[in-house]
Amino acid sequence: MKKTRVFSGTRPTGKLHLGNLLGALENYKKLQGQDAFFMIADLHALTTEYESKTTIAQNVMEVVIDYLASGLDPEKCTFFVQSEVQEHASLSLLLSMITPLGWLERNPTYKDQLQELKGKDLNTHGFLGYPVLQAADIMLYKGEKVPVGEDQLPHLELTREIIRRFFYLYKKNIFPEPEAVLTQVPKVPGLDGRKMSKSYNNCIYLADSREEVTKKIRGMMTDPARKTKEDKGHPEVCPVFFYHKLLNPERVEGVAHECRNALRGCVECKMEMATKLNEFLDPIRERRESWMKKKTEVRQILDQGAKRAREIASQTLRETMEAMGLVA
Ligand code: SF4
Repeated sequence: MKKTRVFSGTRPTGKLHLGNLLGALENYKKLQGQDAFFMIADLHALTTEYESKTTIAQNVMEVVIDYLASGLDPEKCTFFVQSEVQEHASLSLLLSMITPLGWLERNPTYKDQLQELKGKDLNTHGFLGYPVLQAADIMLYKGEKVPVGEDQLPHLELTREIIRRFFYLYKKNIFPEPEAVLTQVPKVPGLDGRKMSKSYNNCIYLADSREEVTKKIRGMMTDPARKTKEDKGHPEVCPVFFYHKLLNPERVEGVAHECRNALRGCVECKMEMATKLNEFLDPIRERRESWMKKKTEVRQILDQGAKRAREIASQTLRETMEAMGLVA
């Protein structure tokens, strides 16, 4: 049976955290038996990190090692680094010729991100145009399924619009319209209860030691209305309880009952959760440590991935150039 072409990418902005693992990587793992390509999007990192460019290559390595530690298997899927497949930049340029400026300016995440990343000068061509680069990433591999978070849906819709426009202009049906595969766990709370994100400094990293995880959980936010152990709690609003639901399913009903009836303290509750979380992270840490000692092998995995990606990407680029009249 023909496998589905799956494509997704991760921006290498540092070590991956629990939100990345539960939100994206678990989804990748389910899809890795398909014809799956997982890209480390270093050019995308450059759109916001162009001033600190020296760290991007180091972050690429961290992401690949986190991929491997999380259980992604290079025998079952292809990992590669975006800038090592130059067709991404070429197709992005070609698509930018046909993408109306208004489509990019009305992109809802564009203005949000400008707001969120206020300290950086993001009034650049590259930052406004990054959804076109994203479209090129997916289209080069004729991606059919794209594992994404909900916040990425407008970008995927833009990719579909660009594909329709390409067909309208050149009457060549080169690109399938990709579908989203939404993550099962869309919003993983961080230590302060907001979405786990590096920019909020509220993350638990896959590389954190047992001690670091326990310390972070000890300081984690709980039900804000519960001031003392005698107050009845509301587990449904408590980020600690979110993790009990995920990692402690056999105890979750008991935890909720004891919380609601003030039969357990938050410190005890957090420590029970920290133990479960550490048990969950232990095998990932072990694999991480082992891959850290095998960086030459990691480099080979990336080289093989880039070779395989280039074979497909160069063919698609050629078809696109022909359709656009650049090749006779
Ligand atoms: S007892 Fe547990 S679930 Fe209830 S508020 Fe405290 S930490 Fe949250």
